[in-house]
Amino acid sequence: MISGWGRFPRQDCVVNRPRSESELRELVAGGPLIARGNGRGYGDCAQSQANTIEMLRFNRMLAFDPATGQLVVESGVLLKDVIDCFLPRGWFPSVTPGTKFVTIGGMVAADVHGKNHHCEGSFGAFVDWLEVLGADGEVRRCDPTTNAELFACTIGGMGLTGIILRVAVRLRPVESGWIRQATLPAPDLNAAMQLFEDYSAATYSVAWIDCLARGKSLGRSAVMLGEHAAAWELPDRLRAAPFRTPARKVIAVPIEAPTGLLNRITVKAFNAAYYRTHVRDRGTKLVDWDSYFYPLDALADWNRIYGARGLVQFQCALPLAAAQDGLTQLLQTISASGQGSFLAVLKRLGASQTGAFSFPMEGYTLALDFPVSPQTLALMERLDGIVVDHGGRFYLAKDSRMNAQTLRASDGRVPDFVAQRQGMGATAFQSSQSERLQL
Ligand SMILES: Cc1cc2nc3c(=O)[nH]c(=O)nc-3n(C[C@H](O)[C@H](O)[C@H](O)COP(=O)(O)OP(=O)(O)OC[C@H]3O[C@@H](n4cnc5c(N)ncnc54)[C@H](O)[C@@H]3O)c2cc1C
Repeated sequence: MISGWGRFPRQDCVVNRPRSESELRELVAGGPLIARGNGRGYGDCAQSQANTIEMLRFNRMLAFDPATGQLVVESGVLLKDVIDCFLPRGWFPSVTPGTKFVTIGGMVAADVHGKNHHCEGSFGAFVDWLEVLGADGEVRRCDPTTNAELFACTIGGMGLTGIILRVAVRLRPVESGWIRQATLPAPDLNAAMQLFEDYSAATYSVAWIDCLARGKSLGRSAVMLGEHAAAWELPDRLRAAPFRTPARKVIAVPIEAPTGLLNRITVKAFNAAYYRTHVRDRGTKLVDWDSYFYPLDALADWNRIYGARGLVQFQCALPLAAAQDGLTQLLQTISASGQGSFLAVLKRLGASQTGAFSFPMEGYTLALDFPVSPQTLALMERLDGIVVDHGGRFYLAKDSRMNAQTLRASDGRVPDFVAQRQGMGATAFQSSQSERLQL
């Protein structure tokens, strides 16, 4: 029985864990299959009942060029291992999601975005080349000029074009393991969006939204900006060893929480307290990279808090012109329903488009977690309608429940992507998600 991070849906799947390319070739010859990284996609994107191929054993780092920052890795290498190995040498991932427990292959397949999308684009913008194993057993090297269609469709293609074997990706040079973080409280949604626009030159920006606030406080947020701290900015005690940051204390959630723990009262209290804490802590401070980029990783297995039924994430992108109205309607609908989300995160997305089927579009992206229940699933269908009406789209790495019609109504690129998959002979790559969405 496997699932994504949301633990919904859980499915009985055949899981293979090959160690070598020859084993992998045999498995690929056997019919429908999908690659799986570390299972941090929320839904069923990395599971196939017939043949799920877990890539974690392809975990070697192969080459590094300190002149350009280009790192060549096998696709099952974890982002955490890249950071552990390269941060002490002065290099950091150019783009990172909110957890370091993802594989590089998974990052390419979802074309992940971070808090710097508005100015630097998504992970794919830093990929120099890929090697992809096709259904015919051939390994193809692709980049923006050679096998360009395969390259464009694999970045953000959710594993549906083949198995990514190796990735060449550029890291960014940094002078320390510290981030200069500025926290700016915003009393409502308009103020939060204005802060994103005013601080568009900040490398990192993200807002946490109190999604149960209503009326004049609708969308009240804490906007957090960040910059990699230069060595000279560090106090004397840190400057001597700028990459040495405090070891993280990780607390594990030992058991599944009872269903219903996250109800209107607990979520409302958490959201209000979180907002108050950030208003109190406004201002600038130095934060270590782990706390800044991966606050949730400090609570291992936090997905168990959502109980036995699991959690679903709703993540959409709205185009810039429609974002204010769309976000207002989404937040009004959520706060009126009382089905609040613990974690509601807003980010500004830039114009950069990397993969042919990548999620980001210029505008804003809102992500919300809900415990699985008939009420939250019905609420999300209402939210789907608002997104479609505002010309938005949905992030497949977070999806576990959308239907094929909604996908098509939200994303005019679907027919082209389906045709490209057929054209490249890649239809054997099928996940439970791609079947549900008729991709
Ligand atoms: C706490 C948390 C925070 C997150 N924050 C963000 C965020 O800020 N931004 C963001 O963009 N995403 C975010 N994500 C989503 C996550 O980054 C993506 O789902 C990522 O793809 C997970 O990588 P994985 O290795 O676990 O892949 P999996 O979940 O195992 O697979 C994800 C997809 O990649 C494909 N895939 C994996 N490996 C390969 C391969 N070798 N070849 C071909 N296809 C492959 C799978 O088929 C599947 O479609 C977050 C997830 C969590 C749990």
